[in-house]
Amino acid sequence: AKRIAILTSGGDVPGLNACIRAVALAAERSGFSIVGVAHGYDGLIDGEFLHLETEVLRAAVPRGGTILRSARSKRFTTAEGRAEAAKQLRAAHIDSLVVIGGDGSLTGAAAFAAEHGFAVMGIPKTIDNDVEGTDVCIGFDTAVNTAMQAIDRIRDTADSHARIFAVEVMGRDSGYLAWAAGMAGAADGILIPETDADWRSLEEKLKERHKTRTGSLLVVVAEGDETGGAAPVAKRLQAAFPEESIGLCVLGHTQRGGSPTASDRILATRFAVAAVDAIAAGKSGMMTALVGDDIRLVPIASVRRRPLALTPERLRLMEILI
Ligand code: ATP
Repeated sequence: AKRIAILTSGGDVPGLNACIRAVALAAERSGFSIVGVAHGYDGLIDGEFLHLETEVLRAAVPRGGTILRSARSKRFTTAEGRAEAAKQLRAAHIDSLVVIGGDGSLTGAAAFAAEHGFAVMGIPKTIDNDVEGTDVCIGFDTAVNTAMQAIDRIRDTADSHARIFAVEVMGRDSGYLAWAAGMAGAADGILIPETDADWRSLEEKLKERHKTRTGSLLVVVAEGDETGGAAPVAKRLQAAFPEESIGLCVLGHTQRGGSPTASDRILATRFAVAAVDAIAAGKSGMMTALVGDDIRLVPIASVRRRPLALTPERLRLMEILI
């Protein structure tokens, strides 16, 4: 029977625990044994293998983060580091590896599969929702809801005092999360790296609204927007509205944690069972993907950041609503 190891790598997102649990249960159902790896690829290189308790896994489902812990590993980016990881797996009689990670972790998994002949399956997670090949990644839905709720709360206080706010949403390279939270939260402005931040036209619109408004103005800014984030935008707002006191809120790591939504838990579970099914069928070097409503497998070697995750249809909504 097969022996599967599972690890989480890169930034944590809500939904990882549901995924780990489902991989463990699906593996047991298939008659395989399952081993957890602590601290991502670093733990793999150091042979940090853990027994996974069914009760502990179940209790972790409503919690954010990862019970396996996560890490970024310099050593795994080298062929020597990956060879060390392969040695540890062989010594523990493990033949298959499931990696839950973002595009970086999955690229590492592809290199490892090509070099060492283990059965490797990848499961995509990221709050940026920008992994090529899958419509949605684990963690995105929860992060959007968390950011939207934060925006709603800021709006309550901003409306009460008719204040102007700049709110920063995570996304160093991708504006997907900021776009989605801003759309869902009915923002007055959304600044993301995918569009030329046309500050001039936004400023005009805000000034127009400011003349007639009775409520607040709220601008959502992606961390990686070319304006530099919410702090520089707050400065620009201050210059545009010198008589107002501008509010500034950087949502930061509050967007990573928290209890995963039903949607993230179910997606995580679907990906997990598909990954174990693929191993049972003798497959390797694939990533689970959601395409439309179907779970598919795509070659992990082709995994990369999806630069245009925001489709023109989605971007157009900003022209209409802002
Ligand atoms: P996120 O960016 O959402 O936090 P990620 O998986 O993309 O998730 P990275 O920091 O890019 O996060 O990668 C996590 C780990 O994966 C790295 O620390 C490294 O160990 C491994 N990794 C990344 N890229 C490669 C690569 N090209 N080759 C081998 N290993 C890699």
